[in-house]
Amino acid sequence: MKKLQQKIFNLGMACILIFICVLFYREPATQPVFTEKKYVALTYDDGPSQLTTQALIDLLNKYDASATFFINGNHANENKELVKSIYEQGNEIGNHTLDHIWLTKASQEERERQIYGNESLLKFLSGQQGDMLVRPPYGDINKDILEEFDVPFIMWSVDSRDWEIRNAASIQDNVFMHIEDGDIIIMHDGYTSTIEATEEILKRMQREGFEVVSVSELFELKNKEIPLHVKVKHCR
Ligand SMILES: [Zn+2]
Repeated sequence: MKKLQQKIFNLGMACILIFICVLFYREPATQPVFTEKKYVALTYDDGPSQLTTQALIDLLNKYDASATFFINGNHANENKELVKSIYEQGNEIGNHTLDHIWLTKASQEERERQIYGNESLLKFLSGQQGDMLVRPPYGDINKDILEEFDVPFIMWSVDSRDWEIRNAASIQDNVFMHIEDGDIIIMHDGYTSTIEATEEILKRMQREGFEVVSVSELFELKNKEIPLHVKVKHCR
C-alpha cells in the first residue's frame, strides 16, 4: 500500500514539475529585435539601360526599397520610357550630366550646359520637380566647381565596385564590409551582375534591419538638410 502511495506522490510531483515548465516556457524569438531603425541610400549611375533598369526597378519594388538613379542625358534620350518608369515607381531621378564628362576639364559654360541642360531634360521626361541631386561623373569635382553651382553634389561612402568586378557575391561582400547607418552606396545601371547583387543586398539589408531608400529620403528620414557646396558622402 505504501508503494502505491509513493507512486501516486511521484506522479503528482512529476505533473507539478511539467506544469511549472509549461508555465515558464517562452517561444524563442525567431527574428532579431532592432531597437533603432537604420537607413542606407542605394544609388545607380550611368543608366537607364534596356538590359538592366526595369529589373532593378522590379527588385526595389519587391523588397519595398527605393533608390536614386543618376542618369546621363544621352542614355535618357534613348530610353525615355524608362526615365518615367524609374520616377513613377517610387524612385528618385538624379543628374549625372548630359554626356558623362569630366567636369574639371570642361569650361564653365560647358559645365552649365551639362548640368542644367540635363536637369531640364530629366524633369521633362520624368515629371519629377524640385531640386535635383547631381553626381559628378568619375567623382570628378573640385572646390571651385562646388562653389559654382547651388545644387547638392552627392558622392558615396560605400563603393560596390560593381562595374569592375562583375560578380554578385564579391559586390555584396564589398557593400557589407563596412556598412553603417546613413551610408550612401554607389552601384551602376547596366550590368547583369548588378541585378543579381542587388537582390542579395536587398535581402540581407532586410535581415540586418536596414531600410533601403533614395538619397533624398535618407536625409528626410534623418531630418537633415542636404548641404550645398560640399561633397556629400553620407548622412550621419
Ligand atoms: Zn558614371
